[in-house]
Amino acid sequence: MAKSSEAVGWAARDPSGILSPFKFPRRANGEDDVTVKVLYCGVCHSDLHTLKNEWGFTMYPIVPGHEIVGVVTETGKNVEKFKVGDRVGVGVIVDSCRTCDICHQDLENYCPKVIFAYNSIHPDGTKTQGGYSDVMVVDQAYVLRFPDNLPPDAGAPLLCAGITVYSPMKYYGMTEPGKHLGVVGLGGLGHLAVKFGKAFGLKVTLISTSPKKEAEAINKLGADSFLLSTDPSKMKDAMGTMDYILDTVSAVHPLAPLLGLLKLNGKLVNVGLPDKPLELPMFPICLGRKLVGGSNIGGMKETQEMLDFCAEHNIVSDIELIHMDDINGAMERLAKSDVKYRFVIDVGNSSL
Ligand SMILES: [Zn+2]
Ligand SMILES: [Zn+2]
Repeated sequence: MAKSSEAVGWAARDPSGILSPFKFPRRANGEDDVTVKVLYCGVCHSDLHTLKNEWGFTMYPIVPGHEIVGVVTETGKNVEKFKVGDRVGVGVIVDSCRTCDICHQDLENYCPKVIFAYNSIHPDGTKTQGGYSDVMVVDQAYVLRFPDNLPPDAGAPLLCAGITVYSPMKYYGMTEPGKHLGVVGLGGLGHLAVKFGKAFGLKVTLISTSPKKEAEAINKLGADSFLLSTDPSKMKDAMGTMDYILDTVSAVHPLAPLLGLLKLNGKLVNVGLPDKPLELPMFPICLGRKLVGGSNIGGMKETQEMLDFCAEHNIVSDIELIHMDDINGAMERLAKSDVKYRFVIDVGNSSL
């Protein structure tokens, strides 16, 4: 078996979450593998949670990053889908069992044995490390074609933030042209949900606690209207007007006011993953036959479909491009949601 090679990335060593240069082994490119030189990597809120061990299962040292766009530098002998020089994406998933019912439905993201781009243990016993690094080695089945007309920097966040909002919109049928979608929260996820909603032909209302978001939502992102959720009279006027709500808020928040905005048979889907349980008021749900659901990223097939959809509809993230040595300051800003709307690390032009 070929020897592993040394990769260079930035890792956190402890729950301070401070990132600094780190050398670690990557497995040698196997027969089914694609080696990817990392060009850009988006900075996801999950990266921050993991760095600081806020979910309680971080294995230090940890190199985060799962919104990766790069170029193929080596392929194994079984790889036919990719060749050296191709632009590719690597997202949240780098492997799964491939044999269970769930994998057979192209829903690898829900496989009980899913392996994530970082903070997972690969079947060969090695720990996965993410895209805040110079190189990734990934099985071809978990590598995505990155469309030529998508910019690799602004397109990187599609690989997690994009699929996180696209997949529930498709699964829950929140795509019927002319229907009214409410998007709660205007961050990395919310701003992409507005763009997907418009591409699906929906009427999109941005729902936020911050009046400052109104101009951004309407003038910059193309939302049709804005609803200030802290204004009781505006909330009352909007009751029963929405077909779907995509809730991207990760803080604990009441669902009752949002359920009130839905029409009969309306659907409320949360992708913000609050870390404590939310209260589920059954009266409005039962009396309006409403649905409350959740969703987590998407499978490989659907992620490819989403990238191709974005290429067709010119959907990319609004980003702030940084270098790797800006990352600790960027994380501090991200913790305060002070970013419009995604940091992306220019890994290829950073000295690691
Ligand atoms: Zn993510
Ligand atoms: Zn599986």
